[in-house]
Amino acid sequence: MNIGIDIGGSHIGIGVVDSNGNIKKRKDIYIGLKEKTKIRKYILEEIVKTIDEWCGDKGKVRKIGIAAPGIIMNGNIKYSVNLGLSNYDLKKLLLKHYPNANIRLKNDAKCAALAEKNLGALKNHDNSVFICLGTGIGGAFFYNGRLISPRRGSGAEFGHMIIKRNGRACRCGNRGCFEQYGSMRVFKSRIKSCLNLSPRIEGEKLRKAIEDNIDNKDVKRIIDTYLDDVCLGLSNIVNILEPDTICIGGGFSKYEELLLDLLKERFKKAKYLFYKKNVPNIVVAKLGNNAGIIGAALYI
Ligand SMILES: [Zn+2]
Repeated sequence: MNIGIDIGGSHIGIGVVDSNGNIKKRKDIYIGLKEKTKIRKYILEEIVKTIDEWCGDKGKVRKIGIAAPGIIMNGNIKYSVNLGLSNYDLKKLLLKHYPNANIRLKNDAKCAALAEKNLGALKNHDNSVFICLGTGIGGAFFYNGRLISPRRGSGAEFGHMIIKRNGRACRCGNRGCFEQYGSMRVFKSRIKSCLNLSPRIEGEKLRKAIEDNIDNKDVKRIIDTYLDDVCLGLSNIVNILEPDTICIGGGFSKYEELLLDLLKERFKKAKYLFYKKNVPNIVVAKLGNNAGIIGAALYI
């Protein structure tokens, strides 16, 4: 049995994945503020409880793949701003429960990228960049079909590329990071405050509110500024890595109709590109919030 686990800032997704990438069972576990105070114990206990419920016999668990945010080295979550964790050796802790299982951990954006590369939007794109515009910004890149894995487990942290000197404060401790301008969290919070919406409004309701106010000049300005910032960050990546295709995942993929064509149009103007003919193909991720689970279960 292959288990894929995606640990995010607000919930843990756990799934049983077959060899074709189909999720046969799935459970989502919420991580609230209360849980965050005892997060080390909570994550481990919830994972073990779920796997034991599904498998019964611990010997049947062949592989446990885990996607987690931050810097991961040899199964250890070295440093994760999102989870507020450092030196959390989850592999070692899980091995005590499942001594015969193949347990692997990798950065969550890299896991999602591997799933998109093998089964999703990047299937036929060998020189490509995957970028996840969500609560933060994560990324990965492929060269000649291979995921480039930085030796220390960091790297490809496109979200922490500084696009504005002395800009907005970032959770990583620096200022002016791309994710403080290009993440969907930033976009949504600016829209919510402009339209006086509750900070908790999300999903379909939020999208509808934007569509209903699409002619509002302040909303237009927010969309315009947001896409320009995304364009700036992506252009920096293109100037360095020269991908043929960029695949955008995370919350952005739910706003495909509203934002994708506008972003492509803006990119075509090549305002921030060094080589103006270097406009990559931009696609949206296909596997949604299953990508991390599938990637972790099958491809790490
Ligand atoms: Zn940062």
